[in-house]
Amino acid sequence: MSPTIAVLALQGAFIEHEQRLQSLGCTTIELRQAADLARPFDGLVLPGGESTVQAKLLHDLGMFEPLRQRIAEGLPALGTCAGLILLADHFRTLPVTVRRNAYGRQLGSFHAEGRWEDEAVPLTFIRAPRIEATGPGVEPLVTLNDAPVAVRHRNQIAAAFHPELDDDNRLYEALLAPLKRAY
Ligand code: GLN
Repeated sequence: MSPTIAVLALQGAFIEHEQRLQSLGCTTIELRQAADLARPFDGLVLPGGESTVQAKLLHDLGMFEPLRQRIAEGLPALGTCAGLILLADHFRTLPVTVRRNAYGRQLGSFHAEGRWEDEAVPLTFIRAPRIEATGPGVEPLVTLNDAPVAVRHRNQIAAAFHPELDDDNRLYEALLAPLKRAY
C-alpha cells in the first residue's frame, strides 16, 4: 500500500504535483467537487495558481470548511505559492503573515538557490508571496538570503516557490515522511 495524496484540482498547477507524487510511489486523487472529499486520502497538496480564484471556488463548491477542518485536525498538507496563501490567509491554519505578489511588479518570476540546512535547494518563484512574519511553532525549512521561503507548522508545510518545477523532492519527502511510517 502506498499513501493516497489528494491534490486540489480546481485551478492552477496541480498536474505537475500529481506527476511528482506518483513518481514517489503515491496514489493521487483530484479534489474537484465536494463529493471528492468523501474519498479516503492521507495527505493534501494545495497547488500554485491564483489564491483568490481558488478560495472563491472552494467556497462556491462547499469545499472550504470541510477542507479547513481536516487541515486543522492534523491532515498532512503541503501548500505551494497560492497554496501557502490559502493556508495563511484563507484557512488561517498556518500562523504566517504573507504578502502577495511581493517580488516586484514585473512578471516576478525568477530562479534562485536557497538553503535547506547546509544544502543548496533550487527555487522557482512565480509571482510569489513573501513570508513576512512567522508565528509560534513555525519552523523555517528553506531560506533565501536568510529569510524563510518554506516553513513547517505541525502537519502543514508551505512554500512560496514551486517545488513541482525543480528536480528536488525534499518538500515532498517532508510531507510523506509521517505517512510512510504508517504504511
Ligand atoms: N500570485 C498568486 C496569488 O496571489 C500566486 C502565484 C502562484 O501560485 N504561482 O495567489
